[in-house]
Amino acid sequence: MTTIGDNLQSQYARLWRACEQAGRPRDAVRLLAVSKTFGPDAVRAAVAAGQTAFGENYVQEGVEKIAALADVAGLEWHCIGPLQSNKTRPVAEHFDWVQSVDRLKIAQRLSEQRPAHLPPLQVCIQVNVDGGANKSGVTPAELLALAGAVAALPRLKLRGLMAIPEPTPDAESARAVFAQVRVLFDALNAQGLGLDTLSMGMSDDLEAAVAAGSTMVRVGRGVFGARAYTST
Ligand SMILES: *Cc1c(COP(=O)(O)O)cnc(C)c1O
Repeated sequence: MTTIGDNLQSQYARLWRACEQAGRPRDAVRLLAVSKTFGPDAVRAAVAAGQTAFGENYVQEGVEKIAALADVAGLEWHCIGPLQSNKTRPVAEHFDWVQSVDRLKIAQRLSEQRPAHLPPLQVCIQVNVDGGANKSGVTPAELLALAGAVAALPRLKLRGLMAIPEPTPDAESARAVFAQVRVLFDALNAQGLGLDTLSMGMSDDLEAAVAAGSTMVRVGRGVFGARAYTST
């Protein structure tokens, strides 16, 4: 077993323990392995250990890695980083999911640019419940209108919400953010949007996110180790 294989095993054990403590079944929460800054060999080691879903923050880096792993069938690639409108085309052409949609213009471009031979691009709207105006993500006040508009785009499939709490040593504030995002998720479903994905929780706050109803945790350092450079 490689180090990455061992890490994956312990992160899944941790996730399943969190599910159990929250009274939720194991298969209620997926683990997305965030491979940003790590090369194709690291991804291959994770694949060898059974992992199939990977998250990337940077478009160019992600597209190169997707090409380098093209010989492996059945991988699922998620774009989880901030998106500029001039970078939407490679994302629409190469990724399976985009979790960081936070404005209609980006969603419209992704829908227009999604190739016809591929299934619809699976998307989450990133919400910002605790940050200032310069943080990525739509505000709760703008969320309902954006969700309705994104759900109507022909080549996108709106799956849910993604959130990243402000980094803080205080576990309580992450918990409060997760609880607020959960309320927004339930409110959208009460409007009939049929969302099934609540993407929240990372290496440092996975348990709190699972307790709040996360259905997908995004784990980078816990799987691949410390990053040589930071991303966000
Ligand atoms: C880097 C990143 C992660 C993973 O963070 P870790 O702390 O390494 O687990 C998750 N989500 C997003 C959006 C990220 O940018």
